[in-house]
Amino acid sequence: MPPAVKLATAIAGIFIGGQVVGQLLNRDAAPSLAMFGPAGIGGLIIAGFVTGHRLAWQWGRLIGLVLGPVFLFALLAFVLQGGNNPLMLLVVAAFPASLIWMGLLLGLPKSRAYFRLICPDCGSKEVKATDFLYNTAKCEKCGRRW
Ligand SMILES: [Zn+2]
Repeated sequence: MPPAVKLATAIAGIFIGGQVVGQLLNRDAAPSLAMFGPAGIGGLIIAGFVTGHRLAWQWGRLIGLVLGPVFLFALLAFVLQGGNNPLMLLVVAAFPASLIWMGLLLGLPKSRAYFRLICPDCGSKEVKATDFLYNTAKCEKCGRRW
């Protein structure tokens, strides 16, 4: 596993761990399986990072590059409303920043190679899934499937 993927896995692990601890500390909510659903999905993503599964790569990119900016804009809205406790802002800003970082790390060439997302024939990074679980990829440039 390349260092960039190790770091992305660590970031995902911190978020999943934080979520589980947050749920356990929330005494108002009755324990249920539903509240651990997102943690379960996160666990599957981490397992996919470890095994190099393309679907986990796709979800990691999506969460990092879509949810990260959404949380960043939410933070900006919070700042603009005058809620500017410096420590709180630092903690809240670390959340979207590390999610965006995870998404960017997964897009690096060595990360793409680890997830077998570089065409073995022409070396193109323009690949897409041919099935729902992304078990097979197809090169957009030359049409090779692997
Ligand atoms: Zn190709």
